[in-house]
Amino acid sequence: RAKHEGRNTYRLFRTEMNQRDHQQLALETALRNTVESGEGLEVHYQPLVDRDSGEVQGAEALLRWHHPEFGQVSPGTFIPLAERSGLILPLGEWVMQRVAAQLMAWRQAGLSPPRVAVNLSARQFWQRGLVERVAELFEAYQLPPGQIGFELTESVLLDHQQEAVELLHGLRELGCRIAIDDFGTGYSSLSYLQDLPLTTLKIDRRFIQRLTGEESQRRGSAAIVAAVTGLAQELGLRVVAEGVETEAQLAALSRYPVTLIQGYLTGRPVDAETFAGRYLQAGEKVRGS
Ligand code: C2E
Ligand code: MG
Ligand code: MG
Ligand code: MG
Repeated sequence: RAKHEGRNTYRLFRTEMNQRDHQQLALETALRNTVESGEGLEVHYQPLVDRDSGEVQGAEALLRWHHPEFGQVSPGTFIPLAERSGLILPLGEWVMQRVAAQLMAWRQAGLSPPRVAVNLSARQFWQRGLVERVAELFEAYQLPPGQIGFELTESVLLDHQQEAVELLHGLRELGCRIAIDDFGTGYSSLSYLQDLPLTTLKIDRRFIQRLTGEESQRRGSAAIVAAVTGLAQELGLRVVAEGVETEAQLAALSRYPVTLIQGYLTGRPVDAETFAGRYLQAGEKVRGS
């Protein structure tokens, strides 16, 4: 009887193991191999631009993966896969090290790179020894305090708030900026904004895009952007508007206390060499005076 049930379960498994699952498995295997060799991985950098001065005040590190068979795989596909499989830990370590090495290379070439923010998934944030590892990297690559910062989503911090406060303090002591990413899309509990030692709030791009979208969405998004930027200002947090693609969106943001703009309008994510050529020459400005 047990055998019989087992067989049924297996058949069910087989039928439900559809093409999508097979592809996921193939992707996961490919990602595992990629993480081991490092081949096909690259960090791109997207500028964060001061709205008023047009100066590049920072950059976000965004991982890119090119596979010989699957081609360019989007982070929206492989990051969740990496999180589920645990590969995010070696992958995240690769990114941090790559960014640290790049920053050192730029500094040694006489350039003055801005602070670079690295995205951290929950498992990376909660891995043992994160603060020590970051301190080690700063030392090994001779980086000034805070040269690398981090972006986290709300859900990561809300799960264990007290522990999160301690971890964040550790990172802040190394000078690191801490941004809440995709703000407004998660639980959006407001009290933690006061309790956590944050520096930056990044308004999710869906709100920015709705500012100039359909009439029915415009007013609601404007209210949210007004509330969020006002709150951030009162709390002394910098505000980044994510996903600004058009002059109209930039104009719609003009009435709100937004510090920084990040989006295709001011600069797409580009490889390190392109980033240096465009943004790291003396006195370079992206827009404005
Ligand atoms: P994110 O951290 O919110 O990063 C911003 C995303 O918005 C990036 O997508 C960026 O390319 C995109 N973006 C920037 N400006 C615009 C714009 O004007 N319009 C539009 N439509 N999109 C814009 P990307 O590079 O595909 O990354 C997606 C997500 O993958 C990131 O969202 C982040 O959550 C995750 N991710 C990327 N790299 C890493 C990494 O190294 N580690 C971890 N843990 N997650 C990463
Ligand atoms: Mg981010
Ligand atoms: Mg974001
Ligand atoms: Mg995101």
